[in-house]
Amino acid sequence: MWLSLLLACTSAPSILQGLGSGAPDPRWPEAGAPLHHPVLEVPEGFGRYGVFVVAGHGTGSNVGNLGCRCIQEEHFTLEAASDLAARLEITGLFEIIEARSDTARPSYPARLRHLARSGADVLIELHSDARGARVAEASGSVGDEICRCTDVDPGLSVLVSDEGGEALDAARLALARHVADALGRAGFPLYDGGRYGAQYERDTTEGVFLDRRGLMMLRRPKVPSIIIETHNALDPQEADRWEEPRTRDAFARAVLGALIAYFSEERS
Ligand SMILES: [Zn+2]
Repeated sequence: MWLSLLLACTSAPSILQGLGSGAPDPRWPEAGAPLHHPVLEVPEGFGRYGVFVVAGHGTGSNVGNLGCRCIQEEHFTLEAASDLAARLEITGLFEIIEARSDTARPSYPARLRHLARSGADVLIELHSDARGARVAEASGSVGDEICRCTDVDPGLSVLVSDEGGEALDAARLALARHVADALGRAGFPLYDGGRYGAQYERDTTEGVFLDRRGLMMLRRPKVPSIIIETHNALDPQEADRWEEPRTRDAFARAVLGALIAYFSEERS
């Protein structure tokens, strides 16, 4: 039995623009590429769960990549994670704990201690990739570092560790697969891993990769944890899409849907 209907609409200026014109919809990451908002339903007695949201990087000299638009990854992740946290929190379904906010720059071990203290049920960490061997141009610089751009390899991926023991790995993979499925259905292209190399092993679910770098935030938490590589920061169009509120809205709705599906399964 379903308690309430949450959300159902489509963020697609392009669909409206395209109606009657015969023009094909733009394809991600082109401007106006449609994103879809699923119908989300919350099962009766769903409960309230803790979600630990981590903005990747932002500690010591660990600032992450420098994207095509000269945005440092640590700044992008802080903004995107805060946005996701706010959009999840407003549903009232989750207690949201943010690992990094404002000017605080906690170390990764400190984030893990915070996670353990918080009693959160899952961890979601956001990043962006900087991939693409065919670097098309340099768009500027920050200090000595050039802001590189590429026109290949857009898309997102979900990273997870499968080295935590049977029960934890099953929960990690379930969370990762729900998130990748939901984001794919929302219209975000799932990266095929073509340039990832041996440290990213493809899972059976499209867009999910098993981490072979031994990343602390995937390996150490005692609750299921995933990293979402939201986009390729070197792709100027994709970087621009991620500055649009509708992209962040569709992203948050997809993650929300995945969390509802995951916790519904966990309870049954
Ligand atoms: Zn990163």
